[in-house]
Amino acid sequence: MTSHKNIQPTVFVIFGGTGDLNARKLAPALYHLFMDGWLPEQFAIIGTGRTVLTDEAFRDRLLEGINQFSRSGKANADTWKAFSGHVVYQAADVQDAAAYEPFARRIQAYAKEWGTQPNVIYYLAVSPDFFPVIAQNISKSKLSADPERTRIVIEKPFGHDLESAKELNQLLGHIFTEQQIYRIDHYLGKETVQNIMAFRFANALFEPLWNRNYIDHVQISVTEQLGVGDRGGYYNGAGALRDMIQNHLLQLLCLVAMEPPVNFNADEIRNRKVDVLRAMRRFTPETVRESAVRGQYGAGWMEGKKVPGYREEVESKPPSNTETFAAVKFFVDNWRWQNVPFYLRTGKRMHRSASSITVQFKDVPHCVFPTETAESWQQNRLIISIQPEMSIRLQVQAKRPGLDMMLNTVDMVFDYKGTYSNEAPEAYETLLLDTMLGDQTLFMRGDQVEAAWDLIMPILNSWEGRASQSFPNYSADSWGPEVAEALIARDGYHWFTLPLNGKK
Ligand code: NAP
Repeated sequence: MTSHKNIQPTVFVIFGGTGDLNARKLAPALYHLFMDGWLPEQFAIIGTGRTVLTDEAFRDRLLEGINQFSRSGKANADTWKAFSGHVVYQAADVQDAAAYEPFARRIQAYAKEWGTQPNVIYYLAVSPDFFPVIAQNISKSKLSADPERTRIVIEKPFGHDLESAKELNQLLGHIFTEQQIYRIDHYLGKETVQNIMAFRFANALFEPLWNRNYIDHVQISVTEQLGVGDRGGYYNGAGALRDMIQNHLLQLLCLVAMEPPVNFNADEIRNRKVDVLRAMRRFTPETVRESAVRGQYGAGWMEGKKVPGYREEVESKPPSNTETFAAVKFFVDNWRWQNVPFYLRTGKRMHRSASSITVQFKDVPHCVFPTETAESWQQNRLIISIQPEMSIRLQVQAKRPGLDMMLNTVDMVFDYKGTYSNEAPEAYETLLLDTMLGDQTLFMRGDQVEAAWDLIMPILNSWEGRASQSFPNYSADSWGPEVAEALIARDGYHWFTLPLNGKK
């Protein structure tokens, strides 16, 4: 194990240390960073929550999380022993300003022991209701007095609508500089998502075609088989548009649609993404009806098991109007993308869990082959699979071997698993490392979050002001409601589904 030379001694203070996110994502990611030599020699993790725990009991919880959720399976006994020596627990109620004093003492003790002031990363893995009070109490306790050495990581959701996102930005802005604020959208840390920029800007081949002259339309689809499960409390006030489209799917759209940045500087890249959001066509009440549809799943069967409908799962009264599916047609009004539709869809309890971006190119201007030669003629398609398959697939026409001239569609595939033997890191590993390195490229800037909220507010307002009469309108194990098919069929298209191991 070697330590990363460029990383300063670091203290992580994890608010929500006893919570699900820490057990499932943060602890396994930090453990992997340690195992792979990406943590500095001098680091400490202080977990906190209201639950009273000894250091040992807290470590046991983390070990359970790592054993269950780490990408490399159960922890190695020696590595765990070395790692867990850096982990301590401090019970605190985040609403009590006096409870922050022990953090200051502990950080100073580390500074003394290490002979240097460490960087301190405050990770807010708690309900968004606590983001303001934690930021205020950190400030009151002078825990963020040194802007060069302190950072705050804010989990999703960042705001509930444009107004609340602005308020939170303002509050954080009074306490921290923008360089200290790391707003997480974990999608941006995914290997396949980061590769979109490499694919677009490290290859001369695609950029000349990457515009309205050659691209017919783009589809971005993030579907999951799981239902709302025990996230009902949060999800029922949010819905698919807030939970997925406002952040993850719009960020994917930005990566596809952004202009080439001048360099790889964090602000340069984020400027180009904000340009896309600002260029996006605004919705009116009329265009919301034409361009956005919603759905909610009913009961059904998934892989031989009976599953309840959304309304049975959340048991709200009156019956919930929250959408578990959303599909929206967007336009980017600039020279590159004028009149190229971007169709985004996301939903729960869908037939398959898969995230992909499909770029459909325009047809050839003139077909020289007789119709009977092309059994399955298809315009060129580029499919970027984000998960579970991690691949880039270019679909082209080719001649089938044989004495006659027969064409069909074949795939040219770059598959991560087939190409690289080393496993891709989890998104949280990338993002935690970037936080330590002070690299904000993969984090959302304040104006970026607000621009995304601003764009979807007319849809949210329209849906919240008008309860759906058709919910539940799709069954478990389907591809969503009929209205989503109609949305795209009106333009002469259909939603693409990736062939996966022969399963459609
Ligand atoms: P969770 O399991 O409910 O954990 C909440 C944490 O907050 C617990 O550690 C709890 O500790 C602590 N807490 C609650 N009230 C507190 C108080 N007054 N003072 C101090 N600590 C308090 O929630 P989660 O699923 O980990 O989610 C945390 C955040 O991450 C949320 O913003 C969520 O949207 C986001 N997120 C979660 C996931 C995920 O996979 N779980 C994924 C993406 C984003 P005590 O009970 O010990 O007080």
